[in-house]
Amino acid sequence: MTVHTPVAVVTGGSAGIGWEIGQRLAADGYRVVAADRVPGFTTGENPAGILWRELDVTDHDGVDRIFGEIEAEVGPIDVLVNNAGIQRHRGLEDLTWDEWSTVVDVNLHGVFSCLQAAGRRMLTRGDGRIVNISSISSRGSAGRAPYATTKAAVIGLTSTAGAEWASRGVRVNAVAPGYVDTGVFRQGVEAGTLSLDTILSRIPAKRLADASEIAAAVSFLVSDQSRYMNGQTLYVDGGFMVDYGVPLAKKPA
Ligand code: NDP
Repeated sequence: MTVHTPVAVVTGGSAGIGWEIGQRLAADGYRVVAADRVPGFTTGENPAGILWRELDVTDHDGVDRIFGEIEAEVGPIDVLVNNAGIQRHRGLEDLTWDEWSTVVDVNLHGVFSCLQAAGRRMLTRGDGRIVNISSISSRGSAGRAPYATTKAAVIGLTSTAGAEWASRGVRVNAVAPGYVDTGVFRQGVEAGTLSLDTILSRIPAKRLADASEIAAAVSFLVSDQSRYMNGQTLYVDGGFMVDYGVPLAKKPA
């Protein structure tokens, strides 16, 4: 009897959080395909045997074609992780149309294209799990308008898809990470637009997240352990979203 190895596609899976998600899902027993613009890893540094397929999530027709090729060559897509995302820092009044639309294309249109292309295939089989990566920035984030807007929209798309497909065997949930020392965050620190000290002072856990902690949440949401969860967003943020953010000026007497 041939045993089907479940297949997981991770967009933006060549680097940062996506790479860590791929490692975790491979350890969970998935055949993982990192669908990204660049390989980002070389043979020898890829112990989990993660496959790479070139994909630009902003290419709507290309996404459908590549997902079809993955299904033909690797197997039915059981899990999709919509992880690819980009950031642009600039005040609203100075933001260019190009900056706005580039972020919207990747972070929102890309998520929709991948969700629809994978979701249609999963619906025909009545089985599948999708996890979208949002962010704590979804609450609103000064100087990061397109990012915050798209990450909030991803939560709306997640709850809608979660509701629409719940009775048809396809579960859709989201993870909203806090700050992780990977691409999107590091670029801001290196450019000097994000201050690590200020950020750490605002995180109740007083540290950044490790990418493996985000991957663990994804692993849970694609597992049977979360089988009664549909359309939810799980915040993995060291307590950031539950803290009002203004500390007492001094310890009360
Ligand atoms: P990285 O920049 O390290 O990794 C993102 C990956 O996505 C890169 O390999 C990138 O490729 C790829 N990518 C970008 N655009 C596209 C595209 N059009 N098509 C396919 N792949 C693309 O980012 P992170 O790991 O930090 O972030 C991953 C996700 O987590 C993002 O959605 C981000 O918004 C989210 N997140 C990150 C947080 C953090 O603190 N780091 C906090 C909260 C959420 P390339 O290098 O070519 O651009």
